[in-house]
Amino acid sequence: MDLYEHQARQLFAEHGIAVPQAEVIESAAEAKAAAGRLGGRVVVKAQVKTGGRGKAGGVKLAADPAAAELTTRQILGMDIKGHRVRTVMLAQPVDIEEEFYVSYVLDRTNGTFLAIASAEGGMEIEEVAATRPEAVARIPVDPVEGVTEKKAAEIAAAAALPPDAAPVLHRLWQVLTREDALLVEVNPLVRTTDGRILALDGKVTLDDNARFRQSRWGAEDDAHGNPLEAAAAAKGLNYVKLDGEVGIIGNGAGLVMSTLDVVAGCGARPANFLDIGGGASAAVMADGLSVILSDPAVKSVFVNVFGGITSCDAVADGIVRALQSVRLTKPLVVRLDGNNAARGRAILDAHAHPLVEQSTTMDGAASRAAQLAAAA
Ligand code: GDP
Ligand code: MN
Repeated sequence: MDLYEHQARQLFAEHGIAVPQAEVIESAAEAKAAAGRLGGRVVVKAQVKTGGRGKAGGVKLAADPAAAELTTRQILGMDIKGHRVRTVMLAQPVDIEEEFYVSYVLDRTNGTFLAIASAEGGMEIEEVAATRPEAVARIPVDPVEGVTEKKAAEIAAAAALPPDAAPVLHRLWQVLTREDALLVEVNPLVRTTDGRILALDGKVTLDDNARFRQSRWGAEDDAHGNPLEAAAAAKGLNYVKLDGEVGIIGNGAGLVMSTLDVVAGCGARPANFLDIGGGASAAVMADGLSVILSDPAVKSVFVNVFGGITSCDAVADGIVRALQSVRLTKPLVVRLDGNNAARGRAILDAHAHPLVEQSTTMDGAASRAAQLAAAA
């Protein structure tokens, strides 16, 4: 999960990284007073979880509280790369002498972390890396040793950052490791004309596996996300909304991904990814079906189960019991194979629900589900 800039800066501040004074507001009516408290002149910054806000007109200087109100009015509601601006941060402007880039990212390929730093901050780092790769230092960080003060000094030197940027590198590592982050980025980290080092913009991506420890960031965001995904998340389902018309339920992420491919291969488009995992209990099946059936884009549903540890008769029982609590409104194509497939198929045959069909192969079931979706 990505954090908003104002949340990232809160973490920075908690770990001793200096940030400009700022206030977060949700309406233009609050802007005048907030700007007044910050000294009158402010930078108005759109709070959206995407970069390049400056270029898109989402970061603007306002000379006084009246201008801050006007600018806030312009920026609130703006669409930046598909993200609607719902909150704005007003920050005390600073006079920039130099702009730097610093970040830590997880380097999965090498099983380590990577410090990326450059004395050419402010612009997009991808651009600097593409045009002047020598200006970007990439230093592996051993996850066990971490970034000691010595290591921080080494990274700063490699990127030609001033020595007083090293403490920020050290503290930024604390943010990464103590706050369950997979990525922390400051762009720009600035040296002001009066010699201070400040984090002017921040990006933090938290590890979703640690979400249970990070509930203080959660609620606000879920309300703005996809309602189907929010409903699925509330039921603990592994669900991703896609833009097609064939609802998909499968057991095991690999099987579900290949199911999406096979459905696409039949000329239809999957409406979602949903992995109900190993158990495939009636409750999970019912939860999954209810989320998928509540998606108005769904025209047919394809349940693709390969019985391994979970046997197909248990899954078939789960489907039958799920259909007692969920009213089926769209055709359901079931393919059961593997452990106890014959018994599972017999259970569904005996139930004889008018909207439930079976197919013995994955390809056959996919093309039938695609056909039903096209006919609907
Ligand atoms: P981004 O475009 O989404 O990365 O948003 P940033 O917060 O990084 O802002 C974009 C640019 O606006 C920065 O690189 C700075 O050059 C500039 N900027 C932001 N805040 C200030 C400020 O307080 N003073 C000055 N002079 N420039 C600022
Ligand atoms: Mn930035």
